[in-house]
Amino acid sequence: MTTSTVKEYKSAVFQGQVGKEKAFAKNGKGVYMTVEKNGKEYSGIIDAISGAAVASLGWGDEDVYDIIQDAARKHTYSYPAYVTNQEAEKLAKFYIENSAPGAFASCLWTCSGSESTENALKIMRQYQLERNMPKKVKMISRECSYHGFTMGAMSVGNTPRGAPFKDLMIDQENVCIKMPRCYPYRDMKEGETEEEYGKRLVDTLEKIILDNDPDTICSVIVETVSGSSVGTPVPPKGYLKGLRDICNKYDVLFMLDEVMCGTGRCNPNGKLNCWENFLAPEDAPDIQTVGKTLGSGYVTIAGVLVSPKVLDVFISGSGTILGAQTYHSHALNCATALGIQEKIKREGLTANVFKNGNLMGKMLKEALLSDETNIVGDVRGIGGFWTIELVKNKQTKEPFAPSLKIASRFSDIALECGANVMGIAGADNYGGTWDIICLGPAFIITEEEVKLLVERLLKAVKTLSKQLK
Ligand code: PLP
Repeated sequence: MTTSTVKEYKSAVFQGQVGKEKAFAKNGKGVYMTVEKNGKEYSGIIDAISGAAVASLGWGDEDVYDIIQDAARKHTYSYPAYVTNQEAEKLAKFYIENSAPGAFASCLWTCSGSESTENALKIMRQYQLERNMPKKVKMISRECSYHGFTMGAMSVGNTPRGAPFKDLMIDQENVCIKMPRCYPYRDMKEGETEEEYGKRLVDTLEKIILDNDPDTICSVIVETVSGSSVGTPVPPKGYLKGLRDICNKYDVLFMLDEVMCGTGRCNPNGKLNCWENFLAPEDAPDIQTVGKTLGSGYVTIAGVLVSPKVLDVFISGSGTILGAQTYHSHALNCATALGIQEKIKREGLTANVFKNGNLMGKMLKEALLSDETNIVGDVRGIGGFWTIELVKNKQTKEPFAPSLKIASRFSDIALECGANVMGIAGADNYGGTWDIICLGPAFIITEEEVKLLVERLLKAVKTLSKQLK
């Protein structure tokens, strides 16, 4: 028998890179945090990605501590399928009332984005069964998409992260079907307009539906603005509306994943949903997932929002949502999320992150797309959600060789320069690769902090650029 020690394995937590020194977040205040890595302490780091586009109120918010204390005293636990709680009700009402009128009618509160995807898939399937459409089982999502790391979520997703688990996933040939990704920087043809590109994608979806028998299609699933997969491309004009119309035409559910881009991250007017930038209220999704900024990282909460259309089918059908998980609608999570969302609304923080996020995007474009740095191919995004794409050749958009691990190298350099970012190495199914740096700061970020962050990111880009010469 062998014995092992924590020291020998460097960390007792089985997550991420095992057997290696880990980076630890020690503490923080506002957008700043202190990280310990390889025995070295980095303080005053601007968290440019708020964890994983999560911590909308930043670190150490005293108001949130009070909300959590009150909530913990008030309500310990009840099993939500039998005896729910008013906190969950209030949060659902808040979300519905702060969305476009008539968009949503009911909400399920889960504990993570992946879990929300799982529940959404089941709700959509049950919806088709409830209205006696058992053949409608196929789900169409995009190539290169990410919807979480559980089995159903990986089945509708399509990133290299899920590839090793393919044999365990829902049938990829006949059930979880893929349509082309939306990645204008790499996929728009020379001379093609934004509208033409969007229409090309929509036409392809229609062809896929027709080729697969419309009577067997359950749903179409996309992220409104994709985050960790292809790096925050703003949807081409008419694209989302085109998808909505096709779904209506063939009686298919339209699902938006707003786990990363939603709940205030990309909307200027206090509305919670990113799609409200691109779609009219009558074109709202039939079902939507949310997460991340909902609990701002103080609690683990995410959700599934359903439209009146979906709710009505359940009410006139069996009247029961199949599946009841122990920690759904957890009162502490719901009360805290509600308090956080009320604070964000009261203090106009979605407008703040929209304004200062767009300022960050503008400044990054000016600073990084210059010939001096020479390795930034694109800077794109909206509101508080931006991406820097690093390339070997700006003219041809040729990516760096994956073996160079550019995205993770950039993240390490950025930390040395005082910024925490999310570096992602992307890949498609055809040998294509790319390196993106995702940014999604806390909603409280100020203009001064944006300026400092841009300085630090410029320094990081110049450092990497020099290293590569
Ligand atoms: N959907 C999208 C678009 C995401 O970006 C993520 C996480 O990054 C998820 C779903 C999964 O959320 P979670 O990590 O909370 O399970």
